[in-house]
Amino acid sequence: MAATLNQAARLASRQLARHSDSAGLDAELLLAHVIGKDRVWLFTHPERILAPLQERNFAALIARRLRGEPLAYLTGEREFYRHRFRVNRHTLIPRPETELIVERVLTLTEPEQPFQLLDLGTGSGVIGLSIAKARPNAVVVATDVSADALEVAKANAHRLKAGNIEFRLGSWFSTVPGQRFDIVVSNPPYVATSSPYLADPALTFEPNEALEAGIDGLDALQAITAGAPDALYPGGRLLLEHGHDQAYAVSVLARAHGMTVVRCYTDLSGLDRFTEITVENSES
Ligand code: GLN
Repeated sequence: MAATLNQAARLASRQLARHSDSAGLDAELLLAHVIGKDRVWLFTHPERILAPLQERNFAALIARRLRGEPLAYLTGEREFYRHRFRVNRHTLIPRPETELIVERVLTLTEPEQPFQLLDLGTGSGVIGLSIAKARPNAVVVATDVSADALEVAKANAHRLKAGNIEFRLGSWFSTVPGQRFDIVVSNPPYVATSSPYLADPALTFEPNEALEAGIDGLDALQAITAGAPDALYPGGRLLLEHGHDQAYAVSVLARAHGMTVVRCYTDLSGLDRFTEITVENSES
C-alpha cells in the first residue's frame, strides 16, 4: 500500500523514537534525502505519494539508523561553519566545536590578506576549506594520511569551487618538506586507546584512525608540536584541537619544542578545546 510523505515520516519517527532523541527530525531529514528535496518541501507536500523505489530506499535508511549509524553517513553530508560538506565512513563527522578554530583564524587575519595555511589531517576538508572560502587570497595546503579521506576533501573542494587549496597525501609534516606557513591548524586524533568513550556506539561507525592516538591520546599532538617549529615562519601560529583534559600536556609539548603558548580556548560547553601556540620571532 502506497504511503504519503506525511504517513511515511510519522511511521518512521515512531520506529526511531526508541533509539534517537531526535527521531522526528531524523525521519524527516532521511525522507527529504530519499526524495531529493529539503524538509520544507515535505511540509508543503504532505499528501504526495512515495514511489515504490523511494519507499524501499527510505526503509533501508531507517533500518541503518536503527542500528545506530549516524545521520550524516546516511545522508552523506553535514553542515560545518558556512557550508555543506560531503562525508563518508572514511572521514570523521565534523563537530561544531571545531568551527572555533576556523573563527579564530578569521580573527587573526583580514578578509583580503594573503597568507599560507597548512591543515594537517584534513579529513573531509572542513577546516581548510572553510578558511579557503572565507580568505580567497590565502593559499591552503590540506593533508591526510588516508587517500580515501582526501578523495572526499577533493570532492568538497570541487563542490565549493575552492581554487586556493591543494591536497597532499601523507603523514603530518612529511607532506610539506622545507615549506613554511603563517598558520598551521589541526584537529588530529587525540582519544586515548583505553578511553571508554571509544565504545560509544555512534563512534564505532567513524574511522578509528581519526580518533585514537596511543595510550595517552598524545601521539599525534606530540608529532605535530615536534614538527611545527620548522614549518612555521617566525611569529606564526599553530592552532591545535585537543581533548578537554589535554591542555596542560599540549602546553608542555609546545614548550619542549621551543614554542610559546598564547592561550587555550574553551568550547561552548566551557571545556578546553584548542590551544594557540606561537613560534617566537627570533629577532625579538
Ligand atoms: N572531539 C572528537 C569527538 O568528540 C574527537 C575528535 C578527534 O579525536 N580529533 O569525538
